Amino acid sequence: SEMLALEGVEKGYNRGKPSEVIVLRGASLTVARGEVVALVAPSGAGKSTLLHIAGLLDTPDAGAVRLDGRAMGGLSDRARTEARRAEVGFIYQFHHLLPEFSALENVVIPQLANGVAKAAAEARAMELLEKVGVGARAGHRPAALSGGEQQRVAFCRALANAPKLLLADEPTGNLDPATSDQVFGVLMDLVRATGLSALIATHNLELAARMDRVVRLAGGRVT
Ligand code: ADP
Ligand code: ADP
Repeated sequence: SEMLALEGVEKGYNRGKPSEVIVLRGASLTVARGEVVALVAPSGAGKSTLLHIAGLLDTPDAGAVRLDGRAMGGLSDRARTEARRAEVGFIYQFHHLLPEFSALENVVIPQLANGVAKAAAEARAMELLEKVGVGARAGHRPAALSGGEQQRVAFCRALANAPKLLLADEPTGNLDPATSDQVFGVLMDLVRATGLSALIATHNLELAARMDRVVRLAGGRVT
């Protein structure tokens, strides 16, 4: 069964103005439960727009979004935000960790925001950090960690609330090739171990080939 479905999604910016740009022109895509799909797109093709719509950060102008079988179309902003917090994890090219908090705290905070008690949140955070090999760095702030370690912490943060769907935008794009390769392996192990469904945008065709399926975004459609 499908975890994510986009059907005929259309999205433009500055509609009706001279600066209008139509980005998605009927994009359709599914991610099955437990499936890891690579999204390959040239720069400017609308990859971020598509990920934001899939992740309930933005709404389409037309078309449908379903998450775990539930239509997202009629939701209020508040219901959509709640669904996003509970069900979607995001990873970006840059880690976006909070600089004044430790690695552990960065993984704890989203759980507190989701109503998890502090002790349970800390236990889960530690378990995740250990899984990706940065348990010994839990007390350090992001600036004290290497790029690869920072990104591993970002993976833990994305998975902290046990989302159903992981969305990643060039998750290792900011790392050197050897580190990227290694850290991508860590991410795939983590995703497989949790049976997570994932849509991972990348320019790296070698990484794309390690996923279950590759889709391409061009001309506003997915092929
Ligand atoms: P990608 O992630 O594939 O590089 P984006 O989804 O970021 O592509 O952007 C697709 C197109 O939409 C680009 O031409 C970009 O300039 C334009 N765009 C993205 N966001 C906005 C916005 N908020 N306002 C106007 N144009 C935008
Ligand atoms: P909010 O404070 O807007 O409710 P959350 O804290 O629930 O957002 O964020 C959920 C996820 O979405 C986080 O991983 C966060 O980094 C990401 N996120 C929130 N807003 C944006 C945005 N405008 N662009 C990209 N990612 C965002």
